[in-house]
Amino acid sequence: MPEAPAIEGATHLHSGKVRDLYELTTGPHRGHLLMVASDRISIFDFVLDSTIPDKGEILTRMSLWWFDQLADLVPGHVVSTDVPASVAGRAVVCERLDMYPVECVARGYLTGSGLLDYQASGEVCGIALPGGLVDGSRLPEPIFTPATKADLGDHDENVSYAAVEATIGPDAAATLRDLTLQVYRRAESIARERGIILADTKLELGVRGEGSDAPGAVVLGDEVLTPDSSRFWPADDWTPGRPQASYDKQIVRNWALSPESGWDKTSGEAPPPLPTEVIERTRARYVEAYELLTGERW
Ligand code: ATP
Ligand code: MG
Repeated sequence: MPEAPAIEGATHLHSGKVRDLYELTTGPHRGHLLMVASDRISIFDFVLDSTIPDKGEILTRMSLWWFDQLADLVPGHVVSTDVPASVAGRAVVCERLDMYPVECVARGYLTGSGLLDYQASGEVCGIALPGGLVDGSRLPEPIFTPATKADLGDHDENVSYAAVEATIGPDAAATLRDLTLQVYRRAESIARERGIILADTKLELGVRGEGSDAPGAVVLGDEVLTPDSSRFWPADDWTPGRPQASYDKQIVRNWALSPESGWDKTSGEAPPPLPTEVIERTRARYVEAYELLTGERW
């Protein structure tokens, strides 16, 4: 894991594969969190040595755009985009929430861990699905498929709705499920109009603590509807029955798996540094996704 860079006026709290979280210790937003998106990229759960220029800024802007699109459904945690100069454009100041220990996933299409569960049991998170579905099938309707957060390096584990109720109580569980499905439906239809299938997405929700304006209010945290938290597929290429090309990381994955990279996926080692050309084409994909979705020029 790369060291998170020191930021003046902020204390480092946590680093994930891609994002670094700080607490602001001075200035008007003292006590709030600073969420920084790096240019790191991960494939097959490895953080690569190579970075994708502008990725952090592209994903930050995309996330901000989505918070706006969702504001009437659920308040977002972003307080300000006025951030320290060293992370300008790729960080947001956000309110510190008490996060629910649940990864709130909505799926409209079957793939990934959902497909594996379905193949083993005919169900995903305890929800029975019709027979005959294949990789990439559209589901009869979107489903809420919660997961528990795993420690760094571990996979999240899909859990049943009943398990979520047992952990956070039935009222909170229903709120999370309903909000997650509402957000998915809204985002799926926006993306569809722009030629992108939103196959699934993961949200993180939390509660405002005592001492805030509206203690107890449920707020949307983390990043929203970025390619790192969601699966975006080009709609014109969608063909159930095979893995779908992902919008952003496919170029990197294909290169890593090609003989050209010299990488052995079973070796347990991270893929080698990316060729410049792969980095540039990947950056162009992120820009394209941003422009298609938001309708704005990068
Ligand atoms: P990974 O790819 O491993 O998920 P990441 O780069 O996405 O890594 P995380 O480890 O997910 O980074 O780090 C972000 C952390 O910030 C998460 O634990 C998330 O729950 C937390 N978080 C997001 N928003 C808030 C908030 N408003 N208040 C408190 N915690 C938050
Ligand atoms: Mg994360």
